Amino acid sequence: MINQKYRSWAEINLEKLRTNYNKCCKTIGESTNFIAVVKANAYGHGDIQVAKQLSSCGIKGFAVSNIDEAKRLRCGGIKEEILILGYTPIERADELIEYGITQTLLSWDYAVLIANTGKRIKCQFAIDTGMSRIGLNANNPIECERTIRLFANTLEINGLFTHLCVADCDDDESKKFTYNQIELFEKVVSRVKDLNLKFCHCLNSAGGLWHKTSSETIVRLGIILYGLKPDYSNILPDEITPILSWKSVVSMVKEVYPGDTVGYGRTYLVDHQMKIATVPTGYADGYSRSLSNKGYVLINGNRAEIIGRICMDQMMVDISGIENVEIGTEVVLIGKSGNQCITADDLANVIGTIGYEIVCNISERVDRIYIGE
Ligand SMILES: *Cc1c(COP(=O)(O)O)cnc(C)c1O
Repeated sequence: MINQKYRSWAEINLEKLRTNYNKCCKTIGESTNFIAVVKANAYGHGDIQVAKQLSSCGIKGFAVSNIDEAKRLRCGGIKEEILILGYTPIERADELIEYGITQTLLSWDYAVLIANTGKRIKCQFAIDTGMSRIGLNANNPIECERTIRLFANTLEINGLFTHLCVADCDDDESKKFTYNQIELFEKVVSRVKDLNLKFCHCLNSAGGLWHKTSSETIVRLGIILYGLKPDYSNILPDEITPILSWKSVVSMVKEVYPGDTVGYGRTYLVDHQMKIATVPTGYADGYSRSLSNKGYVLINGNRAEIIGRICMDQMMVDISGIENVEIGTEVVLIGKSGNQCITADDLANVIGTIGYEIVCNISERVDRIYIGE
């Protein structure tokens, strides 16, 4: 058994990652190019390991959130294009050149700062088509064009991108909004066609799966690579499955009796004799404390409800009626056990968040183990 050495560990199946990627290629179109979004340590999955696999599958490039993530990939041997989607302090602009990294230009003001370094930095302009986060306002395409052309004189502008904010919703209003975002973006792109920008992209996972653009494009694949859903209501294509399982072990088994309470704050009152187990994973491992008295884990193919508050390093679960539970028995926090399965999306749904947050939060203290290489 793999688990004997570990207290709390995530198994990341790289074969499933390749399957997810290949399925995306097939579903979205073989002629489309793809950038993998591996920010936040590849959504908690391990950025270098994930990037290396996708690199061997022929992916065109990677996107990260900041310069430290970008440098990690370069130092880890990644040779493809790397785009920083967010802010880099101007004081670190030299490193963009040194490591051959492409920087997003968040606004006119930010572009001025980057241009004033006097270095010909590789950049892509963000275009705001309705998210109101970063980018030049696409409602004024003439102004966008003027700005792009101006900075193309001093910086190496190699692309434009926008970000969709409701591509995972399929009500009519959201679909209309997404269609409009794509249209606004394409209008800006068409005004600067003559600049031959190599990287013009507007689709995230949900956009790639459920929305079409008029031109050939590049899709930024994030959550789908990891086999999770942009939104809980989504139905993913067959063969796309979660690549991460999170496991722990039982550290203690005991009986509790009516009148006993479990955990901090005594939030769980025992009203009948029951068997409980302690599991040495807690919120410092990234297991959300919001799952206290709400979540469940899987043991020997059965659900075991979390009882009491999740502690920093441990939690207690109800194992009444589950056979053969002892010290060292495997506990599945995310993944499969027998016929039962709990996904990061399921956990997220219990506490009103998204699967993204569940996997991003799995802390460094949890060992990552790679299988299927
Ligand atoms: C995070 C991010 C993505 C990836 O989104 P998914 O929903 O995970 O596919 C794509 N583009 C930008 C700009 C992002 O910030």
